[in-house]
Amino acid sequence: MKIAVIGTGYVGLVTGTCLAETGNDVICVDINAVKVEKMINGEVPIYEPGLDVLFHRNIAQGRLSFTTDLADAVSESQIIFMALPTPPGGDGAADLSYILGAAKDIAKLVTSYKVIVNKSTVPVGTADKVQAVFTANTKVAIDVVSNPEFLREGVAVDDFMKPDRVVIGTRSEKAQKLMAELYAPYVRQGNPIFFMDERSSELTKYAANSFLATKITFMNEIANLCEIVGADVDAVRKGIGSDDRIGKRFLFPGIGYGGSCFPKDVQALAIAADSHDYDFQILRAVMEVNERQKLVLVEKILKYYKNNIKGKHFALWGLAFKPETDDIREAPALYIVDELIKQGATISAFDPEAMNNVKAIIGDKISFATNQYDALENADALLIATEWSVFRNPDFERMDQVLNNKVIFDGRNLFDLEKMIDLGYYYNSIGRKLIS
Ligand code: NAD
Repeated sequence: MKIAVIGTGYVGLVTGTCLAETGNDVICVDINAVKVEKMINGEVPIYEPGLDVLFHRNIAQGRLSFTTDLADAVSESQIIFMALPTPPGGDGAADLSYILGAAKDIAKLVTSYKVIVNKSTVPVGTADKVQAVFTANTKVAIDVVSNPEFLREGVAVDDFMKPDRVVIGTRSEKAQKLMAELYAPYVRQGNPIFFMDERSSELTKYAANSFLATKITFMNEIANLCEIVGADVDAVRKGIGSDDRIGKRFLFPGIGYGGSCFPKDVQALAIAADSHDYDFQILRAVMEVNERQKLVLVEKILKYYKNNIKGKHFALWGLAFKPETDDIREAPALYIVDELIKQGATISAFDPEAMNNVKAIIGDKISFATNQYDALENADALLIATEWSVFRNPDFERMDQVLNNKVIFDGRNLFDLEKMIDLGYYYNSIGRKLIS
């Protein structure tokens, strides 16, 4: 099929590339000319494991191309995906200006039937708004489909190629048939495609992200309580996770959820509920607890240094909001950095992929190390904010040589408590016994 993908971010570029991989002809459009130029020159603009192989293969075979020219893409395609930002607007609700703006631009260009697919995360009723934009701007018949994306950054290619499920919201039989055909290669193992109406589809995405954020937040509260009552969150986690109704995944406590999705989606759902006079109480609590949790490591640090960290120098491992991505949007690490600097500390950070993105935002407010051990040079303590695999089994002898003190504040529970006792560290993690 001939496909256009508007927006080449984490979702759009993965979608476009993976759709090309099954033989479709895909044109990706972005307004960011620098980004498009890079992609035309064969550069993958984001870090996403496995994406580069598919990206280069499909470009080489002529199935994947990039442009800033929307008209080219629209005229060539039967199906047009919108994978555009839906950031929080001034009131915290999802800002639909990218979606509705692009819909208007596309509407002015269509000359034949198209399926307009919204992959962005949007509030209930957005498909109707997009349809209204088309009705106002063209006489050509189109169908608007809601097809929320569930990929996770870091494993996005796998998630797209073998999704747990595909959700397609449309009441048009014609659009449903085309979408079923397009997705058939991705669900060969029998994973379901759920067809539903547009509103249910739109709400499914918000419900999924809000539920996951709630699950993480619940475990963070259990972890905080574990510390107070002298229980071990790892034991509790295993104890509850073996119950199928709860499940083992998403039970690891930490320093709060971040990223480009959970914070904005939880907030957008709560505000959307508000606008219908429904007070979504759980989500309010989730947001409040998460704000606090992002600074739990700072609280521990301040307590240890008796509220005075002026002149202290910290090593920080991890900046990305989670491992295997360079995405730093709403990363808890950045909140920690901000707070520590405010209180007069200095920081030397290392992250395998996210340092350039952080540099672009905060410049030389902190220093960036070339590897995880250089970051420890003359540091009073090590702080861990992202659970990159490379941090899990470090060379402790080498660490001991460069760290000023054997002190670790671990926001991701990377190390075994017994081991830290043997190594003689002060080790403060989340929801577990303090080793001092
Ligand atoms: P992103 O910010 O990484 O990418 C958006 C891209 O759209 C950018 O390259 C930007 O230049 C481009 N763009 C903006 N306006 C444009 C226009 N008018 N025409 C063409 N291109 C334009 O965003 P993302 O992370 O890919 O997220 C996109 C949507 O998907 C959001 O609604 C998000 O909530 C949702 N989503 C994201 C993820 C994720 O893990 N990132 C997962 C599922 C769903």
